Amino acid sequence: MSAETIKSNLKEVELRINAACTRAGRKREEVTLIAVSKTKPVSDIEVAIGEGIKVFGENKVQELTEKYEQLPEDIQWHLIGHLQTNKIKYIIDKAALIHSVDSFKLASQIQKEAEKKNIICNILIEVNMAKEESKFGVYEDDVVPLIQEISKLSNVHICGLMTIAPNVDEAEKNRKYFRKLRQLNVDIKMKNIDNVTMDVLSMGMTGDYEVAIEEGATMVRVGTGIFGERNYSTV
Ligand SMILES: *Cc1c(COP(=O)(O)O)cnc(C)c1O
Repeated sequence: MSAETIKSNLKEVELRINAACTRAGRKREEVTLIAVSKTKPVSDIEVAIGEGIKVFGENKVQELTEKYEQLPEDIQWHLIGHLQTNKIKYIIDKAALIHSVDSFKLASQIQKEAEKKNIICNILIEVNMAKEESKFGVYEDDVVPLIQEISKLSNVHICGLMTIAPNVDEAEKNRKYFRKLRQLNVDIKMKNIDNVTMDVLSMGMTGDYEVAIEEGATMVRVGTGIFGERNYSTV
């Protein structure tokens, strides 16, 4: 995609984020835009960096590590896709935040690798709000027990929750899921569990990030709206 198009897309997304913040009575600084660069070339990412974007989301470990090597150190990489336990070691010291933890088994493997490197790994719990069979993530009812278990892992820090809402024709249809995830976040925060902060709510993609912001998202993950449609056949 041309640099000019990426720049104008970013301006548009920024305007919309601002407008959604205003509607919700929130400050723009409360929302982090994660530019989802999966399948897109480093040259596209460099255009976004030039426009002031500092946080990028990738859903594959190998792609994240390859891009990590080629780009400046002061940008943040977030792993937003499903993570296999055997790949944790490659990203443990490269991903600033792993959005997709949905089992104790995965969290304990993260613990192992984090301990080896003597670091604390920041994670979110992925919640499958609409109980879609095609999606990863834990169901709402299983979130609290899972968090209680993971909170005992000293090198894993739970920062909040993440969801991928259904693919819908109207963003409004996802409002109920965003609202419920926010409520769940608040409920867990009130439990004051050691080693758990719950300040991050990662929800909203190109089709529904404005509604997600209205419902309290602190991170939105926007790919297509910035970099254009993805072409999976060529990668
Ligand atoms: C690809 C992806 C996104 C971005 O999707 P768009 O609809 O292109 O904005 C967001 N979150 C996750 C987890 C993704 O895999």
